[in-house]
Amino acid sequence: MHQIDNVFPMEYQNSLSFAQALDQTDPLAKYKEQFYTLKKDGKHVVYLCGNSLGLQPKNAKAAIDQELKDWAELGVDGHFDGKNPWKLYHHFLTENAAKVVGAKPSEVVIMNNLTANLHLMMVSFYKPTKTRFKIMMEATAFPSDQYAMESQARFHGLDPNEAIIELKPREGEFTLRTEDVLNEIERHKDSLAIVMMGGVNYYSGQAFDMQAITKAAHAVGAIAGFDLAHAAGNLQLSLHDWDVDFAVWCTYKYLNSGPGGTSGVFVNERFANRPDIVRFAGWWGHDEKERFLMKKGFKPMEGAAGWQLSNAQIFPMAIHKASLEIFAEAGIENLRAKSEKLTGFLEFILQDFKEYLTIITPNDPKQRGCQLSIIVKENGKALFDYLCSQNIIPDWREPDVIRMSPVPLYNSFEDVFLIGNALKIYFKR
Ligand SMILES: *Cc1c(COP(=O)(O)O)cnc(C)c1O
Repeated sequence: MHQIDNVFPMEYQNSLSFAQALDQTDPLAKYKEQFYTLKKDGKHVVYLCGNSLGLQPKNAKAAIDQELKDWAELGVDGHFDGKNPWKLYHHFLTENAAKVVGAKPSEVVIMNNLTANLHLMMVSFYKPTKTRFKIMMEATAFPSDQYAMESQARFHGLDPNEAIIELKPREGEFTLRTEDVLNEIERHKDSLAIVMMGGVNYYSGQAFDMQAITKAAHAVGAIAGFDLAHAAGNLQLSLHDWDVDFAVWCTYKYLNSGPGGTSGVFVNERFANRPDIVRFAGWWGHDEKERFLMKKGFKPMEGAAGWQLSNAQIFPMAIHKASLEIFAEAGIENLRAKSEKLTGFLEFILQDFKEYLTIITPNDPKQRGCQLSIIVKENGKALFDYLCSQNIIPDWREPDVIRMSPVPLYNSFEDVFLIGNALKIYFKR
């Protein structure tokens, strides 16, 4: 039985009227009006790529226009006299960003791009010694993270093949078992310097137990850092309470802040007043009160802000600021509650096609976010192309996975029903 609601227990049904009834009672349904949902030849497109590039929120343009206006009318004085003074810009994002990841505002800063921030965090938190030098990560981590970790090992004069421990699923399984991750941490307890994993794996859609992994890493004296590219704006995170050391994320996936958008960084408040922590510094991380005195001698700002390098990238940050306002209003806990139902509905619909496809994402809602990853037994690419021709846009990941990510802000239960309808025609059911 698929109970989708504890308050009004009911079972999913594969029918248009059922899907529409869920949409009608969905308190978040109105949010899709705040986005440019796609159309092709005047027809609605079911967009399932929010895990790759979130749709454009309609408030993005006004946010950019405001900054263009201040630049046009004030020139350099926009730094001080703009509506949102540019010299203070990061402050306008930290509170809402902190809510999204479950942190204190002082633990969060928005800056740069994801991979750059990952390197900045590794500079501060990966301190290999002769005996304790290993980095633990998923074997199928996103390539940028693999390149980043390899190059970090080399930067310290280490051979990546010796320094990096890759976690692989058991033979015949698609995802990692938490117990296996924890056992590996224990097994490498004397040599492990850092665990650096995704919050949600981009390929399998598996969400990791970050709290348990952090606890296990700390128990052996290692650091726990996470790349939340696929987790931020998707899961309900509690980085502070989980005692995570650091995290980084991008803002253009579930956080809908535009192509190449800015990135977020979390640094646990345990490191807030630690000027002794080595970092690659820049003037924007320097004590704000003295920043424009142009003096020598770096004195970091308290908290995550002390890792900033450059003056704020106003345009991508303006979009992110606008997007975060939508998250603050909708509430990440409400979005997550809808997301569990929406993805549960997709899973229910896909189960009718078990003989043709395998869902490799865990079926436990705690171990996944929006995304379901599907391996088609025969010719997955043909199914992918068919869905696209029917105005249903999932994405294709080599070598053999179709990823579908219904997003609670702008996807509907009817969208999910339409996927099932297309599959029925394709598989002649
Ligand atoms: C999307 C993604 C990236 C992309 O990195 P950028 O620096 O934003 O280009 C990196 N790592 C993970 C895990 C991702 O999912």
